[in-house]
Amino acid sequence: MFRSQIKHCRACGTAVAHRLPDDGDTRMRAICPSCHTVHYENPLNVVGTIPVWGPGGEQVLLCKRNIEPRYGKWTLPAGFMELGESTAEGAVRETHEEAGAQIELQGLFTLLNVVRVGQVHMYYRARLLSDRFDPGHETQEARLFHESEIPWDELAFRTVKETLELYFADRRTGIFPVHAGDIQ
Ligand SMILES: [Zn+2]
Repeated sequence: MFRSQIKHCRACGTAVAHRLPDDGDTRMRAICPSCHTVHYENPLNVVGTIPVWGPGGEQVLLCKRNIEPRYGKWTLPAGFMELGESTAEGAVRETHEEAGAQIELQGLFTLLNVVRVGQVHMYYRARLLSDRFDPGHETQEARLFHESEIPWDELAFRTVKETLELYFADRRTGIFPVHAGDIQ
């Protein structure tokens, strides 16, 4: 069961109570005993890309993280979606911010629920327009990997591993359907 992280009211700062609201809601909520604000918490979207290079998309761009969590581990460019943008726009923005990579976005590839942490991760396929990268402060290094070079034991997140495995499997057939699934 997902546990609330809210300790204090976002409206007035009073310590919240975790209880059922009085309006028939059946879920525990963080409720302010002072101003009665009910703090609803919902899953966050993480959006990113699987940027590929080469005539057959044989190389994939990975970023070495320069921030916690998973400092020093490798990831696909991805991050939290912002208000005012679509999932596709967020995926392109994160790819620019983390890798300084120029891409042409292609189709949605994976949609993975990570219920344990209250997140939904979405990765789009993307074609790199150049193999020159300019990583931002969140990234130590951005480079291309062939399938045989992927640091499988040094990947930052399960959704990245899942997305890379699915990509290289589909590349053998050349058909890239959308994969929806759950990460435990
Ligand atoms: Zn309050």
